[in-house]
Amino acid sequence: MSLPLSFEVTLPDGKKYEQPTGLFINNEFVKSKSGKTIESINPATSEVNGSVYVAEEEDVDIAVEAASKAFKEWKKMTGVDRGNLLHKVADVFQEQRDLLGSIEAWDSGKAKHTNAVFDIDECISVFRYYAGWADKISGKVIQNDPAKLAYTVHEPFGVCGQIIPWNYPLAMAAWKLAPALAAGNVLVLKSSEITPLSILYVAKIFKDVGFPPGVVNILSGLGAVCGKALVLHPKVNKVAFTGSTVTGKLIQELAASNLKAVTLECGGKSPLIVREDADLEQAVKWAAFGIMGNQGQVCSATSRLYVHEKIYEEFLEKLAQHVKEEYKQGTMFQEEAVVGPSVSKQQFEKVLSYIDIGKKEGARVVLGGDKNDEGQLAKGFFVKPTIFADVKPTMKIVNEEIFGPVVVCGKFSTDEEAIKYANQTEYGLGSSIFTKDITAAHAMASDLEAGMVWINSSNDVGVHTPFGGVKMSGVGRELGEYGLNMYTQAKAITVNLGTTL
Ligand code: NAD
Repeated sequence: MSLPLSFEVTLPDGKKYEQPTGLFINNEFVKSKSGKTIESINPATSEVNGSVYVAEEEDVDIAVEAASKAFKEWKKMTGVDRGNLLHKVADVFQEQRDLLGSIEAWDSGKAKHTNAVFDIDECISVFRYYAGWADKISGKVIQNDPAKLAYTVHEPFGVCGQIIPWNYPLAMAAWKLAPALAAGNVLVLKSSEITPLSILYVAKIFKDVGFPPGVVNILSGLGAVCGKALVLHPKVNKVAFTGSTVTGKLIQELAASNLKAVTLECGGKSPLIVREDADLEQAVKWAAFGIMGNQGQVCSATSRLYVHEKIYEEFLEKLAQHVKEEYKQGTMFQEEAVVGPSVSKQQFEKVLSYIDIGKKEGARVVLGGDKNDEGQLAKGFFVKPTIFADVKPTMKIVNEEIFGPVVVCGKFSTDEEAIKYANQTEYGLGSSIFTKDITAAHAMASDLEAGMVWINSSNDVGVHTPFGGVKMSGVGRELGEYGLNMYTQAKAITVNLGTTL
């Protein structure tokens, strides 16, 4: 018997809703041609939340064709109308904030009250922000030769392929959907095979608010099959990807097949520097937030701390105390839970193996350093918030992305040394500096190899400000006007007003 196209869910907090399982193509949920499905696992209990259909090459082709056809009419729509539709999506997110927060928590394991509902708020901001941009896209008049009228129009790419990870299933989708649609594109978005549920529920919202069929298509599917087919499809003109650096490199290679435009938001190992003159309480709070938020599954997590030698021990003591008090571990619907489980068994084992490596490499465990198998947490993929101290630049745990609630801490004596350590990895996503010396802060900001620098904060991300990395952390930017520009291309039109050749 084949899987029904939806199933009824009663969430642990008592909320009921209908979970779609199909591929969302042309505003309808359909079964995959192969009939293949995947299970979605609850990270807090290891139980199966449900199954969904997965797209393969043929389904990707159908979705891309649907988008391509829809583009013919969609591109005639005014920016005001596109903006209004995006505002309506934001309105529904606002009305259903609590339910969406519950579904997102259930799907990904993140704590509802301290994490998931704020992801929904972020989606609302992103949809509203880009709704505002939709009627403000404009080219330029180039005033060189009075005998020529030369101007540019900023045109959409047409069909965009978008591939997202599991750490912020809805927020990462919003970061991609909103600017693409505001700029007049149509799209096929592939969710992560690990968190396919919440975005399928959201797919219906696009239909309900009036997006024409084929403008927004959402596929569940495996990266190596569905993702690959999307990136290789000749009618996909632009690919936007968020995920690991390994996959990002592969995508750039695949996209070269027809020279697609590519934006990549990849991994990171972001440093946070605490100078001797820093406000220590603030540095402790932001350092904890910067790595323990979303259980460390944040690409821009400040996962490497470099603290001036004179305040190093005091900082470590305060950080451990603060994390113990403020970052309680629990399942997603517990009110006091902040740090949830790793998203999957595979991720859980990966984080634990890095903890083992750290111990073997000789780093000092200041906090945690193990899985959390107390009570009902034993059923899920919980890793205790972990702080390693006395790390050396050559250690694996210092150079590789762990993507869990694990932070490493080393000490420095001069600003030059701090910058040298900060820039030592192949990544360049975020970076933080804590100091009261404004001149030193700006000098260090200029020397840091990173797409983002936060002075006296960490992961201070806002919809108006571009997000993205340098080096192996990615290509291009999301959010802000910069993120919008990634979804248009300039066409130059020149009118010869004179008579000369
Ligand atoms: P991943 O690279 O394994 O998967 C990301 C997405 O790519 C998934 O949808 C997956 O199905 C797809 N994919 C995998 N192989 C593919 C292929 N061959 N062709 C096309 N698509 C393919 O990453 P993940 O494990 O889902 O997410 C965690 C990683 O994402 C971390 O490294 C993290 O740093 C990164 N991340 C980066 C940002 C950012 O903005 N820079 C944000 C969130 C997560």
